Amino acid sequence: MTLRIGQGFDIHRLESGDGVTLGGLWIACPYRLVAHSDGDVVLHAVMDAMLGALALGDIGELFPDTDARYQGADSAQLTRIVRDRCRHLGYVVGNLDLTILCEQPKISPHRATMREVIAQVLDIPVDRISVKATTCEQLGSIGRGEGLAVQAIVLMLAHA
Ligand code: MG
Repeated sequence: MTLRIGQGFDIHRLESGDGVTLGGLWIACPYRLVAHSDGDVVLHAVMDAMLGALALGDIGELFPDTDARYQGADSAQLTRIVRDRCRHLGYVVGNLDLTILCEQPKISPHRATMREVIAQVLDIPVDRISVKATTCEQLGSIGRGEGLAVQAIVLMLAHA
């Protein structure tokens, strides 16, 4: 098979803090993401989409939160591990489309840099990475600002 599609979803709780890491990018804001790792919900969804495309399980299986090695883990580094695992199986990311759902922080000022950082982590051109964001119109838990969720869809290409 030369093309494989995968989707990933992740959500983390927000609480008072001094910033969040999203898509490998530190964004200073009055919140933090509650997590065992660095809480990078964007890269968690990306990894799950890549793993899903190749039917390799999920990040919970690969990097268990019961394992002390992943306490405060750098999700960019974990993403490079997933990228390399896919490469060894003959696949690279063709394109990636992300939707970030949150009320805060505002994503648009960081969108361009976030795309660059994700492209660097995945080692692919930035024009293959899409980052979109939406609020939830104050509906439900995300709308109340209690958390931040991400949907990811990825197309994996068999490389030559
Ligand atoms: Mg997560």
